[in-house]
Amino acid sequence: TADLAELDPLVAEQIDRELARQRTGLEMIASENHTAQAVMAAQGSVLTNKYAEGYPGRRYYGGCEHVDVIEQVAIERAKGIFGAEYANVQPHSGAQANASVMHALITPGDTILGLNLAHGGHLTHGMKLNFSGKLYHVIDYGVDEKTHTVDMDEVEALAVKYRPKLIIAGWSAYPRVLDFARFRAIADEVGAYLMVDMAHFAGLVAAGLHPSPVPHAHVVTTTTHKTLAGPRGGLILTNDAAVAKKVNSAVFPGQQGGPLEHVIAGKAVAFKIAASPEFAERQRRTVEGARILARRLTRPDVAERGITVVSGGTDVHLVLVDLRDSPLDGKRGEDLLAQVEITVNRNAVPFDPRPPMVTSGLRIGTPALATRGFGEAAFEEVADVVAELLIAGTAADDVDPGPLESLRERVRALADAHPLYPSLTPATTP
Ligand code: PLP
Repeated sequence: TADLAELDPLVAEQIDRELARQRTGLEMIASENHTAQAVMAAQGSVLTNKYAEGYPGRRYYGGCEHVDVIEQVAIERAKGIFGAEYANVQPHSGAQANASVMHALITPGDTILGLNLAHGGHLTHGMKLNFSGKLYHVIDYGVDEKTHTVDMDEVEALAVKYRPKLIIAGWSAYPRVLDFARFRAIADEVGAYLMVDMAHFAGLVAAGLHPSPVPHAHVVTTTTHKTLAGPRGGLILTNDAAVAKKVNSAVFPGQQGGPLEHVIAGKAVAFKIAASPEFAERQRRTVEGARILARRLTRPDVAERGITVVSGGTDVHLVLVDLRDSPLDGKRGEDLLAQVEITVNRNAVPFDPRPPMVTSGLRIGTPALATRGFGEAAFEEVADVVAELLIAGTAADDVDPGPLESLRERVRALADAHPLYPSLTPATTP
């Protein structure tokens, strides 16, 4: 980045600051990760210069012989790690993967059935300001008020009543596994397509730690940058040749122009890593860390402050802290954690009485820390820090500087013990 620092010191300096922020703090946003330096090397390569509209072997531009090899290997690796027969690695993002599937399989005005955003769904599953909410007639299912899990009888009743053309299973903030077989049975019963959006848990699926939706869904979408730990991007998988054909045409030329071959190269590298035993071991620590957090945040000293976790625990890489019965709200919880350099996001919990900009929830994830090498003891320590801070936050509007400083020290110690990108050197600061 030496040239960058010279040419554009402002941008170079902010990149350096971001590197320092990632190094000194603890990243616990459930949708984030620290991708491999090899992935960043592929992304920062000359591949960014290349136009390659079309698909490997069928391009609309010359000079595609090298990107063809790269894109084909990305496709083969994606198929391999998820056991799918067809893969499209071109979607620029998870949102574009979902848009392409809808463009491929249904028509504007059709009914779609997805998880309510306030209960953990994603914007692209039918939120009213999103393309999905504007183009389609949206019906949503929610979680049960007591168990906080998706009520499959409700899904079936809604499907039978509204006859959607597409049923979407998947989530952005939900701590449990879904029953993909039952979703498929319901889709078959009403003649709908089933799309599973596994963006959050794709890494767990690749590691065999979460049921795979691939055998059940007509089509599976994912991002490549969350638990999967690749570059920011999207991926579509299917076992159905007819669906694959429609999806390919919906991605290009339907939704996108030139594919981002530098990002696709990053995806290829990430998929290679995702097939390794080290990756599976990392995903195991990811889930273990989330379980440790859930256990700590349901202990009596936390519970007596009106704090608990949605559904009472977790099966995946995140916990949703439920602050509905606590004086601490999501916004203040997020701010407090930021003061000790733990980054999380506030998040509505099901049946949340507080407004969306405030919320009664915190979504806390473990993928980035697992990537950094966190194991059981380190996750126990970070869980203690989070619990102690949230308890302090319920007692007073401001946590005293002394205790705050000592919690921040403990976070720094954890960060120091788990160095991030040790061989990366800042461009602007010696
Ligand atoms: N689908 C789910 C379930 C997500 O959680 C997200 C991102 O948060 C997306 C899709 C969208 O991904 P992107 O931000 O890459 O468009």
